[in-house]
Amino acid sequence: MKQRLALVEQLKRRGIRDDRLLEAILAIPRENFVPRFQKPRAYEDRPLPIGKGQTISQAYVAALMTSLLELSPSDRVLEIGTGSGYQTAILAHLAEHVYTVEVFDELSSHAKKRLHALGLSNISFRVGDGREGWPEHAHYNGIIVTAAAAEISDAWKEQLEEGGRLVVPVGEPYSEQILQRLWKSGGQFRAENHGYVRFVPLL
Ligand code: SAH
Repeated sequence: MKQRLALVEQLKRRGIRDDRLLEAILAIPRENFVPRFQKPRAYEDRPLPIGKGQTISQAYVAALMTSLLELSPSDRVLEIGTGSGYQTAILAHLAEHVYTVEVFDELSSHAKKRLHALGLSNISFRVGDGREGWPEHAHYNGIIVTAAAAEISDAWKEQLEEGGRLVVPVGEPYSEQILQRLWKSGGQFRAENHGYVRFVPLL
């Protein structure tokens, strides 16, 4: 808990202002989302390996991307790249329902167990290629992609609700990507850049 309070203070200093988001981060035990041998490092300011060559995002990046989604409690969110489920937990605290897609069955089922153990029941899991989104539950008020996308998938654009926000790191893998936010309005998209991030690639 002490470490989580320190994390929240650090996020505030770095410009994360949304109180609901900070409360969610305070409520979620980040150490539950990393492999046992990584637990001592769970609160370090960096990504950590979670198996299958994948990583749990740095807490600051997860917070920044979530704040860009500008979620309200009645929103439905699509997440691409369940991974450890840490970002999923944050979204589940802030939105009405989270639909999360992961390409590795093993990561998805581990995340599912952790999230259920925390009592988070407003989450649906799917194993598959996130580039296709999850058409059966569209449209979404927010879509967040937590792996580097060489290009923005048409499926994400289509599955976004009017007024919805798409947050995605765009660029080449294993280098820096531009964190982009697209707003959908009148069927058109307005794009903004929000600095550089470093993600593992969409597979
Ligand atoms: N939000 C996660 C980030 C995990 S890293 C966390 O903080 O733990 C990116 C994740 O995207 C990995 O779990 C990876 O397996 C998944 N991924 C990669 N390509 C994908 C694809 N095409 N469709 C769905 N998930 C994918």
